[in-house]
Amino acid sequence: MGFLASCSSSYQAVHQKAILVDTHNDVLSQVVMEGQSMEQDLTGKAHTDLVRMKKGGMDLQVFAVFCDETFGPGRAFNFANQQIDTLEAIVRRNPDKLQMVFTPAQMREVVKANKIAALTGVEGGHMVEDKLENLDHLYSRGVRYLTLTWNNSTSWASSAADETKGSGFNGKKGLNDFGKQVVRRMNNLGMLVDLSHVGEQTFWDAIATSTKPVLVSHSCAAALCPHPRNLNDEQIKAIGKNGGVIHVNFFSEFLDSAYTSRIKAFIAKHDLEIKELNDKGVKGMDLRKTIFQRYPEESKNIEPPIDALLNHIDHIVKLAGVDHVGLGSDYDGISSAPIGLHDVSTYPLITKGLLERGYSKKGIAKILGGNFIRVWEANEPKGMAKK
Ligand SMILES: [Zn+2]
Repeated sequence: MGFLASCSSSYQAVHQKAILVDTHNDVLSQVVMEGQSMEQDLTGKAHTDLVRMKKGGMDLQVFAVFCDETFGPGRAFNFANQQIDTLEAIVRRNPDKLQMVFTPAQMREVVKANKIAALTGVEGGHMVEDKLENLDHLYSRGVRYLTLTWNNSTSWASSAADETKGSGFNGKKGLNDFGKQVVRRMNNLGMLVDLSHVGEQTFWDAIATSTKPVLVSHSCAAALCPHPRNLNDEQIKAIGKNGGVIHVNFFSEFLDSAYTSRIKAFIAKHDLEIKELNDKGVKGMDLRKTIFQRYPEESKNIEPPIDALLNHIDHIVKLAGVDHVGLGSDYDGISSAPIGLHDVSTYPLITKGLLERGYSKKGIAKILGGNFIRVWEANEPKGMAKK
């Protein structure tokens, strides 16, 4: 075996041996609820399908349950439940590939049986519709995290988008008393408090209120790419102290601050052609691929290299340690990812990059999934956690 062949097999071996967890994938709300089936080959149409997930080595996928703020009271909670129904139906049709799990112990059994474990996280506190009993219901259906806000604030927590604009809810920022009750109820249930999307004041209030390690399911480091969705260094250090974990998002715009201007310039230059393709029904990722293929030289360096993502992992490790970082791709919720990371089959390239940067196999296993599992176990209700 040549040197290159042995290198390639060793990164694949390290990758396959680790439990791979991704804490945020939008395929359920963005693709499945639009009528496509992730049991079929969706190459070119979506980032995610079951075959490509398996190829990428996925062991535990957290599927985001999501609707935006236009689904108001009376609709949002029902819609969340419909998405869980849909995932359950997919699992029932594919018992040899996918299984819902409720505990870390169940997850380990499913992974041992060579299947993908499926978990849900609700992205946006508005889906709870201001009722603690709705949290209980979602937990009973297997939901294991709630992102306190999406881009919209709730009546009890301010979002990053609103805090940045100088607004919040009813002129307030952070968590109000009910918001703190939500966090305490989640702690009691064993539902992880997810602080992606929340405003900075909400972040600090939640950290002060939570008695358990928290989750940041899909955000990056603001020091490398200033964006309201990313965490500043003080927040990253606080997650380390709290014992929680930050899962890096693969979105080019959160990784590389110059990406937005590059893509805008490219779109402006080829505006007419893009419109023509759009009129012919070429949309989404297909449209992107087609137009990039027509201009290979121009499009080559629009998306950042994988190094951009690895730099965010390095930064978090430097500030908080290797126990506090993981992966939360946001696949099927993002329009662009680093070159090479074009879909869910590409996770092994991250393992390869981490090995090349000198990470130990043990450290890589933590990043790929061990850290999330530790935080999940720490959130399990007392007497429930299994070794
Ligand atoms: Zn999101």
